[in-house]
Amino acid sequence: MMNGKRYDVIVIGAGMGGLSCGTLLAKEGLRVLICEQSSKPGGYCVNFKRNGFTFAPAVHYLNEFGPNSQMEEAFQTLGLPPEFEFCPQDPQRRIITPHFHLTLSTDIDQFEKDLIHLFPKEKLSIHAYVEELKRLVKNIEGLSIKSLDLISLKEKFQLLYKFVMTPQLLRYRGKTGQEVLDSFFKDPLLKYLLTFGARKGSSIFTCAGPIMWAIKGNFYYIKDKAIGALPQLFLRYYKAYGGEIFFNTLVKKIAIEEGKVRGVQIEEGEEIQSRYVISNGDCHLTFQYLIGNHLLPDRFVRKLQNREISAPIFTLYLGVDLDLAQMGFDGALVHHYPTIRKNPWEEKDAEEFDIQKEKMAIRMDSIKNPMLAPIDKHTVAIAAFAPYDLFADGSNKSPHYAEIKEEIAQKIIETTERVIPALSSHIIVRDASTPLTYERRTLNKRGATMGWYLSAKELSRIRGQKTPIANLYQAGHWTFPGGGIPMVIISGINAAKLVLKSMKKLA
Ligand SMILES: Cc1cc2nc3c(=O)[nH]c(=O)nc-3n(C[C@H](O)[C@H](O)[C@H](O)COP(=O)(O)OP(=O)(O)OC[C@H]3O[C@@H](n4cnc5c(N)ncnc54)[C@H](O)[C@@H]3O)c2cc1C
Repeated sequence: MMNGKRYDVIVIGAGMGGLSCGTLLAKEGLRVLICEQSSKPGGYCVNFKRNGFTFAPAVHYLNEFGPNSQMEEAFQTLGLPPEFEFCPQDPQRRIITPHFHLTLSTDIDQFEKDLIHLFPKEKLSIHAYVEELKRLVKNIEGLSIKSLDLISLKEKFQLLYKFVMTPQLLRYRGKTGQEVLDSFFKDPLLKYLLTFGARKGSSIFTCAGPIMWAIKGNFYYIKDKAIGALPQLFLRYYKAYGGEIFFNTLVKKIAIEEGKVRGVQIEEGEEIQSRYVISNGDCHLTFQYLIGNHLLPDRFVRKLQNREISAPIFTLYLGVDLDLAQMGFDGALVHHYPTIRKNPWEEKDAEEFDIQKEKMAIRMDSIKNPMLAPIDKHTVAIAAFAPYDLFADGSNKSPHYAEIKEEIAQKIIETTERVIPALSSHIIVRDASTPLTYERRTLNKRGATMGWYLSAKELSRIRGQKTPIANLYQAGHWTFPGGGIPMVIISGINAAKLVLKSMKKLA
């Protein structure tokens, strides 16, 4: 055995889900080990530096981090100090299309007016839609996201009551964005805008998310800190509570004996024993490779094989010597639609794909957090959905990978000049992540950004975090309640509570 020790719990992966789970378990006095294949904590929630510029490959905004929020409660549960200042990002985003500019901020009445100004024929429908979302936000306020495996009978009744008292939840449960937007609006351009980039089959709640966050003022960043400070804070407290972590340690197998976990095997083939294992890693990797289909129920394997995963992203990172603030930018996320599609739900495969027609999210994080760039310089990160198969030949890297990556980067720069004029002549640092980069760094299959693709159908099915193997639980975006930083922190807490409950340490 690596250090001759037997652990109560081994957590596979130090993403935010794994760190949150490990922190609570260590705080409760359990012997916990986290095995992380990379050299850093945080999974997708990290930073990297290039010549004095600090970039975030993924996480840009945080929901639920304001006063009296779910994360305030989570920090208390995890025994983390309120060390960071979470500032609202307001306006939340600026939408730039070839036809108009539009701002989405907490001043939702102004947003409604601006939309009506652009689409006067849809005045009544726009008002009805915004009012419906306001009611929904008000009604779901304070709804706790606990795994069904953890809630008491009383809490189940309270949840049921909340559902009954929130008719929108029942009305739109299982409904796609397409169905609901079609029922409100006629104008295809308006419908396209209100998808906010959600895919065909997505739930209406995915499309309505940005407006609901604006109504609630639920869009934050960490003041004077890069996002990678968040996992570092978790790690510091995890270790202070006595938790151990092995970096550069790939888990190759979950050891199972008579249907129950016994520990994990790491790269060198050594087994480390533990009573419980939590997987914070990719779902396919966990079940098909670390366990093996032969040890799992057929129905479970079939379900796993048939589920869709979330779409991957291409991100271009630029360090520029432009004074972006002087040019009128305020650090709000810019959603640039170079073209407007006639059919909002059209999906392109790798062959038909043209990045210059895709919606691009442009982040200029150093405007709000100047420490991310050298003086008088700025960071610009431009992200767009891009098919995995564009960069891969089957499951291997395409022989033309470098050329495709360069071509896409050039096209993104060219298109973004419509938003940031003369961008190409002010670039001093450049890097990019393809879906393969994301996959390599975090082992998320095909660079999935948020675990499973949560279609309207999937979202309406409430899932737990238990697995068919006894004492093996999941934490992170491949399980309940879903993707995004607040969700995976909650899922880590839920997984830890499942262990504590099973050990009868939870009242
Ligand atoms: C481009 C992009 C933009 C995003 N933007 C936002 C945003 O603005 N706001 C937001 O809230 N969310 C955003 N997300 C989503 C969010 O980043 C993820 O949902 C979340 O970080 C997932 O956390 P996790 O703990 O589930 O897993 P991950 O971050 O995937 O971490 C899993 C960890 O497990 C490790 N691991 C896996 N398998 C093994 C193994 N066998 N052995 C050892 N270690 C292993 C990996 O190395 C990794 O460190 C974005 C995602 C992407 C990709």
